Amino acid sequence: MERPAVPDALSKDQAGAEADLAGLKEELAVANRLLVNEDVLDAFGHVSVRHPADPGRFFLSCALPPIVVQAGDILEFDLDGSLVGASDRPLYSEVVIHSEIYRARPDVSAICHHHAPAILPFCVAGTPLVPVSQLGAVIGEEAPFWDSQHEFGDTNLLLTRPEEGASLARALGPHWLVLMRRHGATVVGRSLREMVFRAVHSAANAAVQSQAMQLGRLDALTAGERALAGVIRASPVERSWLHWKARLDAAERR
Ligand SMILES: [Zn+2]
Repeated sequence: MERPAVPDALSKDQAGAEADLAGLKEELAVANRLLVNEDVLDAFGHVSVRHPADPGRFFLSCALPPIVVQAGDILEFDLDGSLVGASDRPLYSEVVIHSEIYRARPDVSAICHHHAPAILPFCVAGTPLVPVSQLGAVIGEEAPFWDSQHEFGDTNLLLTRPEEGASLARALGPHWLVLMRRHGATVVGRSLREMVFRAVHSAANAAVQSQAMQLGRLDALTAGERALAGVIRASPVERSWLHWKARLDAAERR
């Protein structure tokens, strides 16, 4: 008997959607390892991407050092930070960083929380991070600070409660990068590759800014330069991704 056309078409769509999700999980796994290779992540830190068909869900690895994350390690969460479906894999303690930012920022499709060595001195000193070169403009108009002390007093500095994630999301506001005092940073983007672009280039900017300050002079971009250079186009995002991916491939072949 001939199969009816409609279910056939639906199953084709479903197969296509599943293939897209498999590709997205693979790309998220690559982003984890790539960000280690570029000195943004180390044994700690985590990367997530919003579900393309369901804005109330996102993908994040189970608790692993990012350098070993593969597509099969990726789990699905909702905006309460709860696991969708069952898994006996260990979970990151700071899932609320992701869930609460996705809840507060519908325009954000990817998030990385990290403790990059180039950024950490700014989080400790409280010195503003400012764009000092063309690519540093990925930081945006401002990289605000968030201090857990202000609302929560003494903690172990990890964000484990939804109210802590929501507080961080408020500090981030409409920006792309929030510096977390005595802890690290969280960077967001409208796509996974754009977020990676912002994460790597903002850390590189921090390293150059620190060195320029040691030289005793800092000429940051003007407000007008920041606005113009801060417009993110697709081609530099793609070129950077290809460059970092090739470096990762070379490192993984060794
Ligand atoms: Zn952290």
